[in-house]
Amino acid sequence: MPIRLLPPEVAGKIAAGEVVERPASVVKELVENSIDAGATEVRIEIRDGGRRLIRVADNGCGIPQDQVALAFARHATSKLTDVSDLDHIATLGFRGEALASIAAVSQVTLLSRPREQAVGQFLRVEGGEIARQEGRGTPAGTVVTVEHLFRNVPARLKFLRQPQTEAGHIHSIVTNYALAYPELRFSLVQDERSVFQSSGSGQIYDVLIALYGLDLAEQLLEIQDERPGQEPEGRSPAIAVSGYTSTPALHRANRRYITLFVNQRWIQDNSLSHAVAQAYHGMLPVGRHPLAVVLLEMDPGEVDVNVHPTKREVRFRNGRLAFSAVQRAVRKTLVEQAPVPSLGSRPQSWVVPDQIEAARDWQRRQALVALGRDRDEDPQLAMELRHEQAELEPVGPVRLPLLRVVGQVGQTYIVAEGPQGMYLIDQHAAHERVLYEKMMADHQQQEVTSQSLLEPLSLDLDPLLTGVLSEHLSNLNHIGFALEPFGRSSYLLRAVPSILATERALSGSGARGAMVDILEMLQQGDDPLATQAEERLIATVCKRAAVKAGQTLSSEEMQQLIRQLEQCESPRTCPHGRPTVLHFSAEQLEKEFGRR
Ligand code: ADP
Ligand code: MG
Repeated sequence: MPIRLLPPEVAGKIAAGEVVERPASVVKELVENSIDAGATEVRIEIRDGGRRLIRVADNGCGIPQDQVALAFARHATSKLTDVSDLDHIATLGFRGEALASIAAVSQVTLLSRPREQAVGQFLRVEGGEIARQEGRGTPAGTVVTVEHLFRNVPARLKFLRQPQTEAGHIHSIVTNYALAYPELRFSLVQDERSVFQSSGSGQIYDVLIALYGLDLAEQLLEIQDERPGQEPEGRSPAIAVSGYTSTPALHRANRRYITLFVNQRWIQDNSLSHAVAQAYHGMLPVGRHPLAVVLLEMDPGEVDVNVHPTKREVRFRNGRLAFSAVQRAVRKTLVEQAPVPSLGSRPQSWVVPDQIEAARDWQRRQALVALGRDRDEDPQLAMELRHEQAELEPVGPVRLPLLRVVGQVGQTYIVAEGPQGMYLIDQHAAHERVLYEKMMADHQQQEVTSQSLLEPLSLDLDPLLTGVLSEHLSNLNHIGFALEPFGRSSYLLRAVPSILATERALSGSGARGAMVDILEMLQQGDDPLATQAEERLIATVCKRAAVKAGQTLSSEEMQQLIRQLEQCESPRTCPHGRPTVLHFSAEQLEKEFGRR
């Protein structure tokens, strides 16, 4: 085929695809424009998860009459003039692509008036072409309305999730900007219902209360860091870290509660999220994550925001410095304000050869996920992991020998003795495996048992979790939950799978807490490629129902757990591939003690 230049509307749609992934990306770009325009109030309205309508209204500087049309041209921006400006970007926008991209995949109307101009301008853009422009009376500021998003891009439309899921993403975007800009008043109206409002008081804490409620906000610690200028000699450039982070008593099943900003720009950065999590080393139960809002301030020249068209990722000139600044500030806050004894690290030399491969594999996968790449964001990695799991499994059912329980260590591991030496069993991983095989077997026979709650529980969840729930509703009901829609955005929970109905699984937070944890775990693994949705749900329920590290078990409970593990098809790994048992052979022990 001959090489041909793409017609402009095709090139436009392709470029738009990079900026506008989903309704939330439109909201993000429009809100950024409002902030750049110096607005003190930003009102966001959405309908049908943003698919039908997105409207962002602000009281910012407006667009002069002679420039409204230009605003929709690609690479048209008032924020950069020459390439040297790229080194110190102080506005959120700068690529001059957003309005052009949005207009290429939707129908846009713009109404704008600078304060000093008597009459405003109305502009309608259809399929990227200006369809109408005229003078109109309007309050000072700008209103952009986006309708019929992706109607002309069927491929994109197909990938949109349910309206509630999309609305959940929009909710996250809006609340993130409210956190980054506490001095601005934000409001979000979803299908004519107000779902979020910030006061514009200038205090992040007030936004946190609006977002999470007072009870939760009270469990957050203000991050204490050295102010810039106080740092020791040679530690320049300065990175100031501020924000709030949870006490070790408050934690979540999901990392999405770690929110990061650099120079008031919301970013996603696995390495910095990991820095926050690491600061809690030894303080949180396994698999739990802190809740934090962390703001970094640094010289704009030290961070490149022009890495990706969505500007969601940034590149630090010195990534290690940013990592350690965050980790140090959060750790310092925790140590000074919430002292908790550290669990310490475990000796390295205890790993026996036949365990090394599994452990190493696990660590490598963890490292991939934690640093660098996130499996949820990265289909390639998700594929690799699945592939690796497939390679790990066929080793075949390695049955466990009969074991005798000796005791429990650190409320986390069971020490047992068998014919070939000593066995250390991870109580959580082992229980997960036991529950998983039981529930899968019941599921295959279509006899998963449920336990009705004494009273149905009404679940009012945040928009993101409501979206997750509505998406998994029928599968959840297949595996033993009884959930039904109740009113506009809540659900009634009438029953849970029996394995979840134990005193231990429901202790503390009850059925509601368990349900929230499960939805959060599902949200984290928001994986459109997942084919065996019910199996994944079952694995998630089992993870939540299993005994945790940190729980004391009686010897009968330990003995019973080990008996059940011995009966399993694949007792050596948990459903996620982590080892359940470490084996220390008699020979290994003799060698270590210098007996031979
Ligand atoms: P960028 O933000 O990267 O400059 P956009 O396509 O988002 O590119 O916007 C193009 C231009 O339109 C901006 O540079 C700005 O001058 C103007 N503009 C867009 N939205 C607003 C707004 N809400 N208020 C004032 N000016 C705006
Ligand atoms: Mg912009």
